[in-house]
Amino acid sequence: MTTAYTFVPSPSHVYPDHPEHPSRFDLLTPRLDSFGAQKLNAKPATREEVARIHHPTLINSLEDICKQAPAIIDYAPTFVTQTSFDDALLASGGTLSCTRAILSGSARNAFALVRPPGHHAEPTHSMGFCIFNNIAITARDALERGINRVAIVDYDAHHGNGTQAAFIDDERMAYCSTHQWGIYPGTGWYEEAPNAKKRIVNVPLPAGSGDKTYERIANEIFAPFIQSFKPELILVSAGFDAHWNDPITSLGLSTAGFFILSKKLVDLAEEHCGGKIVFVLEGGYNATNLANGSAAVFAALMNKDFVDPGDASPHKETDTSEMIEKVCTWHEF
Ligand SMILES: [Zn+2]
Repeated sequence: MTTAYTFVPSPSHVYPDHPEHPSRFDLLTPRLDSFGAQKLNAKPATREEVARIHHPTLINSLEDICKQAPAIIDYAPTFVTQTSFDDALLASGGTLSCTRAILSGSARNAFALVRPPGHHAEPTHSMGFCIFNNIAITARDALERGINRVAIVDYDAHHGNGTQAAFIDDERMAYCSTHQWGIYPGTGWYEEAPNAKKRIVNVPLPAGSGDKTYERIANEIFAPFIQSFKPELILVSAGFDAHWNDPITSLGLSTAGFFILSKKLVDLAEEHCGGKIVFVLEGGYNATNLANGSAAVFAALMNKDFVDPGDASPHKETDTSEMIEKVCTWHEF
């Protein structure tokens, strides 16, 4: 079976000098055909599908504010243009198409390359460059279609506060996030969800955490997280802003690190849920890193050789043993 993907570049969802810009895709777009995956058409999510996560008041107010756009809707800053409401519906719809292709058996696994991103968007407000929470909407859709447990792993450099907020009380969902501590949005401390141990797992990391840290996390946190929750589907918030030279963050991954991390998640999906895994693009604000990171994800999904672009961090990696041990102890991993 094939690897499927959707591509929703939203070229008119654009704001001058903003890092979440359509040019993020400039180096990825010409490489898409070379990956050999099957492109699916994205169709917009319906209001009803979005309303499974977001309050109708938010949906209506976003539609209204886009009519008066361009506008800034939070301090991140998050912008909207006249097309942003429709662009956000298509980004969510492109993510739904990937997951449904897997659930129907027409694809083995998939990658939703969409913008605007989604993981900061909470049920009652859009924030952090995100309009609708694409991955949360998709997880809820999978539950409606008979999947009993969905695990979301989020390796974007920022905490996915919106995804956590959507599912903190939902026993059918598990969420595990690695993120730089001390940056936007300020949530994601490891002791933050004491009533959902093993199910809501936060791994806050210091600046400079790199490939060695993430390989340990893959083995010592992601693996027991998946083993204990036993999901029937894994969704991944893939953000390439955890790369060491991302312009707005200070973590330390290389493209080879993204490959190791992605391959581990694909292997966990093969072992625990029949290979059912969907990667969903979140952040990543350097076009080279986004293209290379996406290529690494496709290599992992398609079990192909990874071509290392040789972009290891020139900086000494921060020692993160203490935090990894704290997280493992807190969750009894
Ligand atoms: Zn991010």
